Amino acid sequence: MMEQFIEIKQANPDSLLFYRMGDFYELFFQDAEIASRALGITLTKRGKLNGEDIPMCGVPVHAADDYLQKLIGQGYRVAVCEQVEDPAEARKRGSKSVVKRDVVRLVTPGTITEDRLLAPSEANYMMALGRVKGAEHSYALAWIDISTGTFRVAETSADRLLTDVLRVDPRELIVPDPVFYDPDLRPVFDVLGRTATPQPATLFDSAAASSRIARFFDVATPDSFGQFSRAELSAISGAIAYVEKTQISERPPLARPEREESGASLFIDAATRANLELTRTLSGSRDGSLLKALDRTVTGGGARLLAERLTSPLTDPVEINARLDAVSMLLAETRLCEALRAVLKGAPDMPRALSRLALNRGGPRDLGALQAGMTAARQVFDVLDQALLPDDLRTTCKAISALPQEFAAHLDRALADELPLLKRDGSFVRAGYNAELDEMRALRDQSRRVIAEMERALIEETGIRSLKIRHNNVLGYYIEVTANHAEIMNGTDEAKARFIHRQTMASAMRFTTTELAGLETKIANAADRALQIELEIFDALLAETVSHADAIRAGADALSQIDVAAALAVLAASENYCRPQVDDSLAFRIDGGRHPVVEQALRRQLADPFVANDCDLSPDDGAKNGAIWLLTGPNMGGKSTFLRQNALIAILAQMGSFVPASSAHIGVVDRLFSRVGASDDLARGRSTFMVEMVETAAILNQAGERALVILDEIGRGTATFDGLSIAWAAVEYLHEKNRCRAIFATHFHEMTALSDKLARLHNVTMRVKEWEGDVVFLHEVGKGAADRSYGVQVARLAGLPDAVVERARAVLRQLEEGETSGKAARLVDDLPLFSIAARREAEKPVANDALVEAVTALHPDEMSPREALEALYRLKELS
Ligand code: ADP
Repeated sequence: MMEQFIEIKQANPDSLLFYRMGDFYELFFQDAEIASRALGITLTKRGKLNGEDIPMCGVPVHAADDYLQKLIGQGYRVAVCEQVEDPAEARKRGSKSVVKRDVVRLVTPGTITEDRLLAPSEANYMMALGRVKGAEHSYALAWIDISTGTFRVAETSADRLLTDVLRVDPRELIVPDPVFYDPDLRPVFDVLGRTATPQPATLFDSAAASSRIARFFDVATPDSFGQFSRAELSAISGAIAYVEKTQISERPPLARPEREESGASLFIDAATRANLELTRTLSGSRDGSLLKALDRTVTGGGARLLAERLTSPLTDPVEINARLDAVSMLLAETRLCEALRAVLKGAPDMPRALSRLALNRGGPRDLGALQAGMTAARQVFDVLDQALLPDDLRTTCKAISALPQEFAAHLDRALADELPLLKRDGSFVRAGYNAELDEMRALRDQSRRVIAEMERALIEETGIRSLKIRHNNVLGYYIEVTANHAEIMNGTDEAKARFIHRQTMASAMRFTTTELAGLETKIANAADRALQIELEIFDALLAETVSHADAIRAGADALSQIDVAAALAVLAASENYCRPQVDDSLAFRIDGGRHPVVEQALRRQLADPFVANDCDLSPDDGAKNGAIWLLTGPNMGGKSTFLRQNALIAILAQMGSFVPASSAHIGVVDRLFSRVGASDDLARGRSTFMVEMVETAAILNQAGERALVILDEIGRGTATFDGLSIAWAAVEYLHEKNRCRAIFATHFHEMTALSDKLARLHNVTMRVKEWEGDVVFLHEVGKGAADRSYGVQVARLAGLPDAVVERARAVLRQLEEGETSGKAARLVDDLPLFSIAARREAEKPVANDALVEAVTALHPDEMSPREALEALYRLKELS
């Protein structure tokens, strides 16, 4: 057995091997050590290899899903190895023969389908990287959600790789072996950690890709899917090969690979994506993210689509407006919107049920999910059909009407109301659907009545009133009489021939008759036959499901689209959002803008309501390019919030959502950049300042005139003059070279002077009010520059010791006086820095010599607790 284990393990070196033994999956050697730690289960041992104990641990088969979930969640891959023959077969080969086993499935984070392992509202992508060598290597990414069938592909480049991967946020990225070890790309894979793994380069062979794709989709040539570049073919090939490798014998119903044109979605670089906390906060939780604040969807598919739209906003105003039209319409038609949501609320997750079925992992409830989903779709269609629809919803409606109605009706006829989880439990086919099944079930179910009748007849025949027909697992059905009636049953030859003796007990005797034995076989056969018929029906329905897979998926997608449009309408109504005007201009004008997440948070905390603020970066009259706002103001004044809210409003508008503002006009943004917050990257050995500079460099090198840039406190991480000079030069560069729309927050007030020199630069500031030496934040953005930074007041609010605050005020006063008289640098030397310290020194009480002496004489290490206590009392007396 160990030989067999080792052989299988060698073929699957990068997975933990779940080796089936009876009712357990056992793990051995290092796998056992890893799993016992990861799962918190006991590590035992079994047998020895080369004199050493073999570590082992195991999980029961019936609970395997839970354990798989934990392991997958921690990024492990698991190879599930089953017995693939009847143990009787193995015994026939010889008493020492081991039952044949094989890996039937590789469970990896990116290829799971089980409901319990999947988060309903999150896509679960497996992604493959393709690369074709050349003077300039070309790269592409293909990603698949095997639980829903989504399949996409897009070109990328070494520079954009990380950004593109993080946009999709796959659970798993597979990379051709040589590329994985390419030093130039190492940093990308380092960031991705265990998500990225090398796979044999043969999987990604672009030359063999066409035939692989054709084979998988069962078409003559993949040309009809569209034209793909060689890098794209390589990525697609890698993705398909990996699906085949992990699913072994089953083929999931993937959609045909759909190409994402570059530039079709708003480019948001990795740092910006993280800092804006779009789908997760910086600490990794979904609570507090923009997605969480927006999500009003009622289906899993809708929630996944919303997340996808949020992470890939559009850049084509026509498409954006089509989405907005759908939201507008549903916002106006409140009743229609509510009716749709009521139907959708009950709709099950069709794509995931479909995938499980096609992978032969589905059960009757998955068929039930399709049935209920299609019924819901029908109702949605009926509701929508009567309404006047904008184009976007009209197309959606078409996909719903293209759902296979006959198949839906077939499921209605075939499936029972209550469905078991597993098909082997039977009883999922509706009565009246199949005549033979009904007959077999009647036989099986009527057995009790037939037996009772037979019992009555036998009592009459024998005259034994206490005669019983009973059943046990050893004898099956038998007739039982008490010992004193035995004579009647076997007293004569005739009786002996009629009642066949089975067993004698102390007080009873058991018999059977040919009739009873015959009935017994019929009952057992009927149950077997009933199940067999049900399984055949299941298989037939399964085949029909698979043949309609494309239409079902398209219909389910359509439902998700309606869910998203309705959810955005509900959001707009409840949060008082407005429809943005989105076009090809370079405008960026937001009136009464709010931060969608902070606004909701303040409301939850019953704090003062959010203060709305305007932002206008549109080109000034006669200017060709958008403006830059230089934002000053004290810490805690609301600068970061303002910066982020404007970026978020742009994202919301371009994903096709209404926005938190009283009005908004946005000329489509093609790239969004930000440098906000101080995300330390110490794990990669970069200081805060270095990270800041790397991110700033990326922005200055890439932003074009359609970009939107938000920069927060550039240059904070270094000495004042360094920092100021860098910030200064960066603003000049943004204004002259990038010529993009930007908001630049800074605490260097000196920079406000730049507005005299740079035509499109405007100074704005966060308003504050001073009150009895304290500062009150108004969170209002107004024209002009802050004259002070109120750092000392903020420090006081934060609870710095009074002495420090007092001292800081004095230093500040002197510095400011020096500045006005032009002697700033020298004044620093003149400050009586130690005056407070000296005064405090003078005021200090004289030390008690006796006390000092006594303390010096103590040797804590040599004292017992009791002695220590006594010493303490002595010292107290001396003081
Ligand atoms: P800064 O970046 O200037 O230090 P922040 O943007 O971090 O300031 O804001 C500080 C706090 O002020 C935040 O916690 C937020 O709750 C609150 N705040 C910011 N902007 C507003 C606003 N417009 N209305 C109400 N509260 C706000």
